[in-house]
Amino acid sequence: MNMVCSRKLLICVLPVVLSACASDGSFDGVKATAIGVGVLAAAALDEDDVKQAASLSAKELDSKSLVATESSPYAKRLASITTGLHNYAGLKLDFKVYIAKDINAFAMADGTVRVYSGLLDAMPDDQVLAVIGHEIGHVKLKHSYRQMREQMLTNTAFQAIASAGGTIGQLTSSELGAIAYQAVNARFSQKDELESDQFAVKMLRSLGKDPNAMLRAVETLESLYGSGGGFLSSHPSNSQRKDEITKAIGAS
Ligand SMILES: [Zn+2]
Repeated sequence: MNMVCSRKLLICVLPVVLSACASDGSFDGVKATAIGVGVLAAAALDEDDVKQAASLSAKELDSKSLVATESSPYAKRLASITTGLHNYAGLKLDFKVYIAKDINAFAMADGTVRVYSGLLDAMPDDQVLAVIGHEIGHVKLKHSYRQMREQMLTNTAFQAIASAGGTIGQLTSSELGAIAYQAVNARFSQKDELESDQFAVKMLRSLGKDPNAMLRAVETLESLYGSGGGFLSSHPSNSQRKDEITKAIGAS
């Protein structure tokens, strides 16, 4: 039994006018919503709650995806690339391969990291490791947590459960699937992307690997998608990104 499932979502219902909280009528990302005579003023959705939602939505997504079995060459290759990374930077990380042509990878706040076989086909090991470092960066630097929290606070299913004093465990599989979909298709800010690149450079260095692999990973995506495309290159331009990575390599 998962002890965390019994945690109640804390919702403050305050009979006050919300306009004092924020100029746009929102508080902590939640739009003012009338509940009886009170108002949904704040959702104390903490990091443990978000991590639990991430774990459940990852489980849901795994069940709907073609996960490479341990004996698959893809799974063996990912296991080899991620050797020694299951506990890294204070994070507990779980790696799996999805068999799909997408050149993609993503991570969630709980340390779930999924790499698509399309990415493994497109890059040599050192570049895959760089991409994984970038994804771990989003977890370690709490980009994944902040994004999922924000998304959950505006999710009507979550709001309904939270306002009734429910638990994360009450989210249905389709609601968890929707949360997972958002995580897979997460778009981070330019600042977050550049920070994650820098994290990857440091990680590669700390593992005794060539940090230039991060630069080469961006170049591989550029060769596949052109200067503006690719999942790693949606925000900063590739040239800006490569400049920043080169600076990070010089500084690390
Ligand atoms: Zn990213």
